[in-house]
Amino acid sequence: MLELVLNFLFGIKKFHSSCIICGKLNENLICMECEKRFDKYKKFNIIDNEKLIKDKIGIHNIKLKQQYYLIAGKKVYWEKMLYCFDYKSIVRKYMLQYKFFDKSYLANFFSYEILKNKKVYEILKSYDIIIPVPMDKIKKSSRGYNQTELISNIISRKGGIISGNNILEKVKKTKTQSTLKKQERKTNIENSYVVKCVDKVKNKKVILFDDIFTTGATVNEISKKLKQAGVSKIFVLVIAKD
Ligand SMILES: [Zn+2]
Repeated sequence: MLELVLNFLFGIKKFHSSCIICGKLNENLICMECEKRFDKYKKFNIIDNEKLIKDKIGIHNIKLKQQYYLIAGKKVYWEKMLYCFDYKSIVRKYMLQYKFFDKSYLANFFSYEILKNKKVYEILKSYDIIIPVPMDKIKKSSRGYNQTELISNIISRKGGIISGNNILEKVKKTKTQSTLKKQERKTNIENSYVVKCVDKVKNKKVILFDDIFTTGATVNEISKKLKQAGVSKIFVLVIAKD
């Protein structure tokens, strides 16, 4: 049933499509073989920061403990974070192609992977607005598109969630985060983003969407600004976690 809904959502006609990854004739957006290659790295893990803080004493699960201490040490401004994949192997390969090699059509693939997870779909629908992490204008015009915005737009359209593309603006030109060390990343992005339309986010439950989560400095800085603007809850959604 979900498959039918997705085919309808993504406008895929049975027997008239090809796999978005390998190009072989296929009735769904992605063929079984390619799906299997991605399945190995699928996580759909939710980090519930609120719960972790509440349960601080008494976490016996080592994995959770590690996650807690990874984000702790600095104040975290979002409540929950979900990552769909580990940023490894084939996931990394296609994310890099999507980002730097002009393969904007892969936005369909990543949003399809997110929306076809029923649990995630239900969570996303319980939020008011989806906001992509913005790029500075010069970078966006040289690349031709903002990769997070493209996916966020599809999730908004197919999932029926209001799109908040113009709510944030990147006001400071920053060095590429991946070239910096942890502390430098934090200093690099401080005060780089502003919330332009405070009235649109006040008391709202927000999905903040980014492509990759590494140290989390960017989404944390933006979450801080959103909270200052009166946002009630923040759900960080990322495709992959490094
Ligand atoms: Zn394929």
